[in-house]
Amino acid sequence: MKEWNLSLLSKLIRKNPGVSRADLTAKTNLSPTTVSSLVAELIENGLVREIGVGESAAGRKPILLELIPNGRIGLGISVNHDGILVAPVNLVGQPLVTYTSKVDLADGNAILSQIIEGIENCLKYLEQHELKENLAGAGIGLLGLVEGVKTRYLLGDEWYELDLSPLIERYSNQFDFVIENDVNAMALGETWFGFGEEDRHVLYVYLGYGLGAGLIIDGMLYRGAYGNAGELGHMSITPSGPKCSCGLPGCVGKIADGTHVLMKIKEALENNEPTAMTYDTLTVSHFLQAVEDEDELCLKLLDDMVFDLSRTIVSAVNLLNPSLIILGGLLCPPNSSVSQKLIKTIKENSIEGHRDDFKVVVSNLGANAGVVGSATLVLKTLFELPSYRVVEK
Ligand SMILES: [Zn+2]
Repeated sequence: MKEWNLSLLSKLIRKNPGVSRADLTAKTNLSPTTVSSLVAELIENGLVREIGVGESAAGRKPILLELIPNGRIGLGISVNHDGILVAPVNLVGQPLVTYTSKVDLADGNAILSQIIEGIENCLKYLEQHELKENLAGAGIGLLGLVEGVKTRYLLGDEWYELDLSPLIERYSNQFDFVIENDVNAMALGETWFGFGEEDRHVLYVYLGYGLGAGLIIDGMLYRGAYGNAGELGHMSITPSGPKCSCGLPGCVGKIADGTHVLMKIKEALENNEPTAMTYDTLTVSHFLQAVEDEDELCLKLLDDMVFDLSRTIVSAVNLLNPSLIILGGLLCPPNSSVSQKLIKTIKENSIEGHRDDFKVVVSNLGANAGVVGSATLVLKTLFELPSYRVVEK
């Protein structure tokens, strides 16, 4: 019971910086004595601190409380088509330093050694800043179908498997790992540190070199029976489209993600079509710039992509009835033509009577979504209410 109450109080303090002990008593129906002793324990554990006194109409002025941002650190590790990112992330969702590297997803050994290099860099940072003691564990967000300590993913038409056991063994006497699909982790990060904090039904759409979705249903991450929920990229929308690695023709992930757009630009270059893009600038960020510069080819590719993506997202909205859609990923930065066009088209294509029932926003976590989401896998356990625990009297 005490653990439950501790968890409840730390969550309330996280959500309401500057809250007082009296506020906590009112919000929880716990007795003032219980709140005082639990807050004392949180302060002693380095999670909460007093930040001064507040106003009071009469009587003693209340002492205000807040979480200590670096009181606990989660190591966030993100591995997908966009690269490998490792970062220590604090209790308010800020990466303290970020290690980034490009990735060859076909080379499992290279991936493991790059992750280790990232972890070592971050541990060094934590040591230098006397924060290593506060490390609560590591979360890994991996592309593909995550089962236990392994993930399986398709590259072209071939399945690859990545086994994280050597990594987990290497750090077994230092910290534990939590492993999850990368987009699921991002969706979770959004509900803890992004725009999704107040919504219980969230559709998170990730658009980068790949396409995927994470579902928060009734406040919980929805993984499906076998962890496959959110495979938005394999919704087959064009029967005459190219065959996808899953076997179906015209999957949206095959015709409307960053990899596809760059392939189309490469084809255009081979055919000497006019464009500002070159063989040396075949990246998502250069495509985004070319769109802003009104490159004709890139504008046409953007239109095609938005047409296919918006129809797919609207289908998902009709199926799931979310109150919030968050668009994230390298190809969907805030204030870009891609995100603005996508938001407008999703609204235009949705059922008229339901159009105002949901909001569409662009993630404010940006390129940090992967590491923040992965770290959330660890940090959220500090605030989770063990609701299935037998209550001790
Ligand atoms: Zn497919």
